[in-house]
Amino acid sequence: MQSPEESADVLTAILLFALDGFRLLLLLFAAWFIVPRHRNCPQCAEPTEHLETARALRWILLEKRWCLKCGWTGVARKPPGGTVVERPP
Ligand SMILES: [Zn+2]
Repeated sequence: MQSPEESADVLTAILLFALDGFRLLLLLFAAWFIVPRHRNCPQCAEPTEHLETARALRWILLEKRWCLKCGWTGVARKPPGGTVVERPP
């Protein structure tokens, strides 16, 4: 049988781990928002093409993009209604 102090220690440990998990989730969510949403290349502003994306990236609504003009490849957030190519003004 555990003493009340021991069960309080276990409860504190569980609470601290839960707080760490929550903090990690919050950090990942913030990092996801930092990923750009636009379809244009960040280097030359040309429209980029969608590349085949790994399943793990698709699950978190990200896609790999490639610039035909300068060769830039990177990750962007998926638009809500499928892929939309934005033209530079
Ligand atoms: Zn480019």
